[in-house]
Amino acid sequence: MNDIASVALITGAARGIGRAIALALARPGLTIYLNDIALGEEAARTQKDVAAKGAAAKLIEFNVADFGQVQRGIDEIVKESGRLDLLVNNAGITRDNLILRMKEDEWDAVLAVNLKGAYNCIRAVSKTMVKQRFGRIINLSSVVGVMGNAGQANYVASKAGLIGLTKSVARELGSRNITVNAVAPGFIQTEMTESLPEKVKAEMMAQIPLGRFGTPEEVAQAVVFLASEAATYITGQVIHINGGMLMV
Ligand code: NAD
Repeated sequence: MNDIASVALITGAARGIGRAIALALARPGLTIYLNDIALGEEAARTQKDVAAKGAAAKLIEFNVADFGQVQRGIDEIVKESGRLDLLVNNAGITRDNLILRMKEDEWDAVLAVNLKGAYNCIRAVSKTMVKQRFGRIINLSSVVGVMGNAGQANYVASKAGLIGLTKSVARELGSRNITVNAVAPGFIQTEMTESLPEKVKAEMMAQIPLGRFGTPEEVAQAVVFLASEAATYITGQVIHINGGMLMV
């Protein structure tokens, strides 16, 4: 699979799935901007590992939920690199609670990062991508965005919203050779899922035909595919990576 992007931005790339995506994309000739909300040791380690694979790895700090910060960050990238070919909207958070107990700030925080964050980034890159007549946008949704999940109404609403956002923007920007797709991981072993109670993990496992949780690298491979020359005629789609937990 040939990669066609030369400048990429991955949000929430310090660790987990974002880090795996950066490592899977990394190759000589590609500049990867690794975003996170607070750049620390994790981000520095990812930068080092991405650079070791021959890519130019740059750190860029902003909060995806903040429209102004995102605009300034992306303006900086375009000024420095002259273009932006690939945006991966990966930054995401959870604030789980049953709807009866869900606080307003839990709802607002999750929607602000997961859904508005993607809007903010797409809004900021779209002008450059339209001008270039080229772009790839990949949004990290989730299997629960299609299935629903008790205790995660805020998260599920954000991930279902991302699917609608993906399809609408794919329709708007298709004529400019910009593809917009989503990947919907199932249960993937990262820090986000490690904190779940053992009982919840066991219940999830029982629903997975492949009998194991996925790895960040397995999600990253689908993103590499969507960003590649092999996926030029794929837009508005959701690729499920869930070990068969949901079949659509
Ligand atoms: P993670 O918590 O390990 O990593 C998320 C990263 O995003 C962190 O580095 C964090 O600092 C960053 N981040 C959080 N808020 C941010 C903000 N406002 N601005 C910039 N960066 C921010 O999570 P992960 O498991 O790697 O998940 C990555 C994505 O994949 C998320 O969108 C998540 O919803 C999605 N996903 C994960 C799973 C799973 O099982 N882990 C399943 C389905 C979907």
